[in-house]
Amino acid sequence: MTNATATGDAPVRVRFCPSPTGNPHVGMVRTALFNWAYARHTGGTLVFRIEDTDAARDSEESYEQLLDAMRWLGLDWDEGPELGGPHAPYRQSQRMEIYADVARKLLDGGYAYPCYCTAEELEERREAARKAGRPSGYDGTCRTLTGEQIAAYEAEGRSHVVRFRMPDEPITFTDLVRGEITFQPENVSDYGILRANGAPLYTLVNPVDDALMEITHVLRGEDLLSSTPRQIALYRALAELGIGTGRVPEFGHLPYVMGEGNKKLSKRDPQSSLNMYREQGFLPEGLLNYLSLLGWSLSEDRDIFSMDEMVAAFDIHDVNGNPARFDLKKCEAINATHLRELPLKDFIAACEPWLHAPHAPWAPENFSQAAFEELAPLAQTRLTVLSDVTANVDFLFLDEPVRDEKSWQKAMKEGSDALLRTARAKLESADWSSAEALKEAVLAAGEEHGLKLGKAQAPVRVAVTGRTVGLPLFESLQVLGKEPTLRRIDAALTALS
Ligand code: GLU
Ligand code: ZN
Repeated sequence: MTNATATGDAPVRVRFCPSPTGNPHVGMVRTALFNWAYARHTGGTLVFRIEDTDAARDSEESYEQLLDAMRWLGLDWDEGPELGGPHAPYRQSQRMEIYADVARKLLDGGYAYPCYCTAEELEERREAARKAGRPSGYDGTCRTLTGEQIAAYEAEGRSHVVRFRMPDEPITFTDLVRGEITFQPENVSDYGILRANGAPLYTLVNPVDDALMEITHVLRGEDLLSSTPRQIALYRALAELGIGTGRVPEFGHLPYVMGEGNKKLSKRDPQSSLNMYREQGFLPEGLLNYLSLLGWSLSEDRDIFSMDEMVAAFDIHDVNGNPARFDLKKCEAINATHLRELPLKDFIAACEPWLHAPHAPWAPENFSQAAFEELAPLAQTRLTVLSDVTANVDFLFLDEPVRDEKSWQKAMKEGSDALLRTARAKLESADWSSAEALKEAVLAAGEEHGLKLGKAQAPVRVAVTGRTVGLPLFESLQVLGKEPTLRRIDAALTALS
C-alpha cells in the first residue's frame, strides 16, 4: 500500500475543466468557484481547460457559453482560452497528438494493452460475474495476450480498445475533504483509455493534462471519486515514464448537491441552469455567495459575504463532505440582501438592462431615467432579483397600467367606486409636493367610508398601478404625477360603472 499525495510546497495550481456539453449548471459553477477561491486564497494559478474530446457531445455554442458564464460570474482564470499560457493549447481537441503520443508510450512500457473483447463477450462475462456475486468490472482477459493471439484477432478483423493495467494492490489517498480513502484492486478494474477508433477517452486525457499542466490540487465533484484511484495509478505510470512533474496531485471531492425530494440535483432541474439565474437577474456575487455555502461556510453566524471575504477565508480543508441541500428560497434571500447592500448608483446601473428592450414592456420613448431614479431607492429595498424591477415601475412608463385581473378582483369591491370618487377629489386638492399629504388625502377619504388606510388605498393602487402589490404608493403617485394619477382613477371609475 502506498500513499499517493505529495505536492510539498509547490505553488498551488488548480484547474476548472468542464466539457462543453449543454448549458452551464450550478454544480459546475460551484466547482469553478471553489477552485477559483482556492487559487486566489493561496496566490496560486487557476487553469481553465476545455475537455472537448467527445465530438459527438461537445459544441462550440456550449464552449462560448462557458467562457461567457465565467466572465459574467467574475471568475477569472490565469491560463486557458483566450489567455493562453505555458501549457497551451487549453482545448483538448487541439491536443490530440499529445494523447496519441502518451498512449503509445503507455503501450510500449506495458502500462496499457490492447483489448480485443467484443461488446457481447464483455456483457456475457459481466453478467456471469454478477450472478456469481463477483465484481463486474473488466476481468483482465486480454492482460496477457501473446503476439500470436493478437495476430489471430487481427486476422479475424477484430478491432481493439486500449486498456490501462491497474496495479494489483490497494490505492490509498487522503482526500482533502473526506480524509483517507482506500480502493481495493478488485473494485478498480483495467479501464479503457482509447476507443477502438483510436480516440482518447476522458480517463486518459484528464490525468495526462493534469500531469502536464502541473496541477497540484484536483478539486471536483464527488461523482468523480471513483475515477480517482484510476487516475492515481495512471499518474504513477506517467511519472515512471518521465511525463509531467512526477508528483500525484492532491484530491478534494466536493459534496453532492441535493435537490427536491432529497435526490441529487440534476442538470435537468430548472433551478440548476445558470441561464435561469442570469435571466431572472441574480447578481453574480449573490449567486456565488449562495453556492459557496454548498459545502463551505465563512463562519457559523454569517451567511452573507463578498467574494473578497470568501477568498480571504477559503481553505479547501474546511469543506464539509456531507451532501449539501440546494435551497432556491435561501439563494433568493441571499441575492436580495446583496441587492440591498449595493451602493445606489450600482443598483441603478444593475437595473439598466431590465429597463430596456427586450425586457421592458413599455415604448422606449416613454421611459424616463430620472423618474426611475426617483423610485430606485424604494425599489432597491424590495427586489429579490433584478428582473422584478420592471413590474415595480412599469406603471410609470406604460400608457395605461397593466390590468391584472386578480388584483382587480381583490381590490375593487362593492363601494370601491364611491371611495375612488372621494379619494380623487381629495387628491385633486392635495399638496403634491408631499407624499405625506397624499397619504392624508387617501386616509381622509377612507374615513368617510369607514375604511382603514390599507383598505382605502387598495383600489387607488390598483387603479393607478394595476396591481395590489408594489412600491410604497404615495411616493409612486408623486413620481407618476397628479394629472396621470387622476386620469387613471377616472378610467377605473369608468370601468367600474
Ligand atoms: N471534464 C470533466 C467533467 O466535466 C472534468 C472532471 C474533473 O474535474 O476531473 O466532468
Ligand atoms: Zn479484452
